[in-house]
Amino acid sequence: MNMSSTAVRACGLVRTHGQGQSRVRAVDGVDLEVPRGQMLSVMGPSGCGKSTLLHLLGGLERPSGGEAWLGGRRIDALSERALARLRRRSVGFVFQAFHLVEELSAAENVELPALLAGCSRREAGRRASLLLERVGLAGRARHLPSQLSGGQRQRVAVARALANDPLVVLADEPTGNLDTAATLDILRIFEELRAGGQTLVIVTHDERVAAGADRLISMRDGMFIDDTWLAGSHPRGLGGLIGLEG
Ligand code: ADP
Ligand code: MG
Repeated sequence: MNMSSTAVRACGLVRTHGQGQSRVRAVDGVDLEVPRGQMLSVMGPSGCGKSTLLHLLGGLERPSGGEAWLGGRRIDALSERALARLRRRSVGFVFQAFHLVEELSAAENVELPALLAGCSRREAGRRASLLLERVGLAGRARHLPSQLSGGQRQRVAVARALANDPLVVLADEPTGNLDTAATLDILRIFEELRAGGQTLVIVTHDERVAAGADRLISMRDGMFIDDTWLAGSHPRGLGGLIGLEG
């Protein structure tokens, strides 16, 4: 991965779904540059194209038009194989429904991306314990997802997203299934990651999560209707300023 100061870039990004009458422009001409280290939130009504945008930025879907770039590399024209490899190494996804492997322990879930990227068992295990410790779950490493609360499962999913030290973490309504306490846990972890220089793009309906970011984009009908830099220069972000912490 080269050292471009832009983590994520989109130019004239378009994605249509369906045919004929039922054709929808889910993403309709988006230009975006996310500098390295930025925590960006995206808000907007259901169906406005937020998930599709994340999928395009992370190489899970290909655009119908325009360009998607990751760390100075154009990704929309890559072969399936090259794209899968890039996704595995450079993108950490977090989903609303966690998407953990139910048969695997917390530690094994976190080890998986590193193993798939070619890490040794020993190295993958070492990273997984560090990451579980970072999300406050060192004592739950051997638990199955079914033995964890929703908030704990999502923290495992965040640890898994970090397993390959990704260029960007893409989170799609990560607190959509969580109560307030668990939401604030996830927000605190995101703010710690941002403080450590991690780039994050977070789709959210939660004002508290949105306000914790450096920048907030509002979407409507596949387009950006607002793009505002928040008090991101504050070391703890706006979340700290409005008293969500401590
Ligand atoms: P959001 O995440 O903001 O709720 P989505 O990106 O999921 O929005 O969807 C944007 C639009 O694209 C919606 O109209 C949705 O119905 C449509 N859409 C999304 N995925 C598909 C798909 N696989 N096939 C057909 N239409 C889709
Ligand atoms: Mg969605």
